[in-house]
Amino acid sequence: MTNLLEKAHAVAPEMIAVRRDIHQHPELGFQEFRTAGLVADKLRALGLEVSTGVGKTGVVAHLGEGTPIVAIRADMDALPILEANDVSYASASPGVMHACGHDGHTAMLLGAAKILTEMPDRPTGEIRFLFQPCEETNDAEGKSGAQRMIDDGALQGVDHVIALHVDSDLESGLIFAPSGFMTANVDNFFATIIGQGAHGAHPDQGVDPIYVLAQVINAIQGIRARRINPGRPAVVTIGTVHGGLPGGENVIPNEVTLSGTLRSYDDQTREKLIIEVERALGVAKALGGDFKLEIVKGCPSTYNDPKVTELIRETVVDMFGQHTLIERELSLGGEDFSYMTREAPGAMFLLGAKKDAVKRAHHNPLFDIDENVLPRGAAMLAETALRLLMGAASKR
Ligand SMILES: [Zn+2]
Ligand SMILES: [Zn+2]
Repeated sequence: MTNLLEKAHAVAPEMIAVRRDIHQHPELGFQEFRTAGLVADKLRALGLEVSTGVGKTGVVAHLGEGTPIVAIRADMDALPILEANDVSYASASPGVMHACGHDGHTAMLLGAAKILTEMPDRPTGEIRFLFQPCEETNDAEGKSGAQRMIDDGALQGVDHVIALHVDSDLESGLIFAPSGFMTANVDNFFATIIGQGAHGAHPDQGVDPIYVLAQVINAIQGIRARRINPGRPAVVTIGTVHGGLPGGENVIPNEVTLSGTLRSYDDQTREKLIIEVERALGVAKALGGDFKLEIVKGCPSTYNDPKVTELIRETVVDMFGQHTLIERELSLGGEDFSYMTREAPGAMFLLGAKKDAVKRAHHNPLFDIDENVLPRGAAMLAETALRLLMGAASKR
């Protein structure tokens, strides 16, 4: 095990070079052609059997044969953000940026693949490396990269699946691996409040959708407080409101639109939020207007399998000591790795990668990570995969 960590440190320069290369050449979801090519070349150089074009632009490699099968996943896509960092490896594609750390994930999984491939006496079974496209968004049919890879059979026969995500706000090197829910159900709503336009001086002759909207917003914001079990995590955020036209200060418009996001962990709360948004919009009818509502269901919540999580936590403590394993509050962020954990019991852990004192939030133009964590992440993925392989084998 110490050996594995040492080996991960030995490949650190290579991981940093790969991470910077990918960072400098970011590609949006399902357009990761250069990135996938680079990944496939590196994997082939290790002598692995490689499949490309899996889930559109994903790459899969197999190490070892037979069962059990343990999969490790990294995502490869960037975001439509203009990078503001002045670093030698800054994005060379204006308006596209690795602002979530997926470049680091890809580099760490390549590092793990290298140290595992070069291991002389691996346990029996297969380790499958999944380099996934498009985690951040969906294609025209509403499917994300994880779904597309599953559709193409990438998870077939897999006993366990693991992944990590860097956290630019968590002290570098610390690891968070909670058992149970890890990320939220992410559903969005798009609504139109229909009134009846009129002259601003004669509101009584129409139905003012802006006035109606004000009541609807109150009703929607009451959902979390009044309609959801206080013990169940949930968030409702209205992200957009649009109404009226420029120069229309004396015009009551016909309609206004609003959209927002519904976050929860469990399925029951997920459905309740949807029902309650519809009920809240019903206020529009009570006030003489009407509404249209569209719900777009996104990725489900990630459930970290308790047994797999326990094994990750043991690995952290054995490898880096108890002080590295932290506890903290959960977040209602989303992550499409959830689709994979619905195929096979698995877990994701967070790896602290705070670079410096600057606020470098995810999905922000100043996002960056501390590259010193790359060996730690690669060693964690490799060691956990080995332990899962041995654990799953002993149960067969
Ligand atoms: Zn992200
Ligand atoms: Zn991400």
